[in-house]
Amino acid sequence: MEQINRHQNQKLSALIDTLEQNQSLTLSEYEELITCRCKEATDILAKRAVSLRQRIYGNSVYIRGLIEISNICRNDCFYCGIRRSSQRCERYRLTAEQILECCEEGYSLGFRTFVLQGGEDAFFTDEVICSILSEIKKRYPDCAVTLSLGERSRNSYQKLFDAGADRYLLRHETADCEHYRKLHPPDMSFHHRMKCLHDLREIGYQTGCGFMVGSPYQTAADLAKDLKFIEDFRPEMCGIGPFIPHRDTPFHDQAAGDVELTCYLLSIIRLIHPPVLLPATTALGTIDPGGREKGILSGANVIMPNLSPVSVRKKYELYDNKICTGDESAQCKSSLSGKMKSIGYEIVTDRGDIKKPESDTA
Ligand code: SAH
Repeated sequence: MEQINRHQNQKLSALIDTLEQNQSLTLSEYEELITCRCKEATDILAKRAVSLRQRIYGNSVYIRGLIEISNICRNDCFYCGIRRSSQRCERYRLTAEQILECCEEGYSLGFRTFVLQGGEDAFFTDEVICSILSEIKKRYPDCAVTLSLGERSRNSYQKLFDAGADRYLLRHETADCEHYRKLHPPDMSFHHRMKCLHDLREIGYQTGCGFMVGSPYQTAADLAKDLKFIEDFRPEMCGIGPFIPHRDTPFHDQAAGDVELTCYLLSIIRLIHPPVLLPATTALGTIDPGGREKGILSGANVIMPNLSPVSVRKKYELYDNKICTGDESAQCKSSLSGKMKSIGYEIVTDRGDIKKPESDTA
């Protein structure tokens, strides 16, 4: 038995070496790395991920002020608490003035990136968002604006980019077409979502993809495909967090994703694409009170505190028991700062754009 373990460990550690050297593995190798996860491999991966991140970003952790602009959505994703058919969800939409007030508060707290996220709400036409974008850019020319408003036409993405949007987050959710079908109703398309990501990239956005860890029906082979997709697409940002069930969705009785597996994948993603901006997500902090710190200690380097007005925070409920729905933003930020300091990291006031690793600039 012990011999088998030793053999297994040697194999995993050889895989990790190959991954670090080539920033690439085959699909079956990624799958093996996932299925044979053990304490030793977890520790080696985290150590290498942290040292790579350290080399590129030092001990800086970037913060993004998340403004949840609307929970009205035309889509009916099976996992999401703000899906169209959720009757109990109390709907809201922020006004342009409210969004600008969030930015004002965020700016004074030291945020230099604002993320406007929401459901696919028809009220937010290109014209409406473009006017909000130009106002934010006029008032805060030193800030980056990230949009996370779901799938739109290429023409729309282009208009928003021209109005000043710098980055766009659109998680691919799963890189396997069949798995995608198990998470979404038939009117949603895997190929369209992937096309959106390619459009965003071509237009010139810093682009973010990502997926949930432990979403229903997800297999190790699906996760291997997610990693291969990240390897090929080389996104500037990548958001991954555990799936957490929401009581009013078809997935209400499914198990939540796993903290350790999420952290393991964060380390692997850092090795695949060293300069990637990798958040330790709110979902990770929700399933484990020390989850975001664990994420940072596994190779993540971004945190996205909530800047939404306190009155709507509980309503943007993608999953049960989401954290930071009561805190004032200022409290949230200072407690985070303390938590990061205690593990040796510093929250910085900076736009936090992607950096090139030393080897690329040499
Ligand atoms: N409408 C936007 C924003 C979606 S919310 C869009 O389509 O991109 C942001 C992310 O939250 C989603 O991409 C999804 O990966 C995640 N999410 C949704 N429901 C979740 C759940 N139950 N548990 C964990 N993460 C969830």
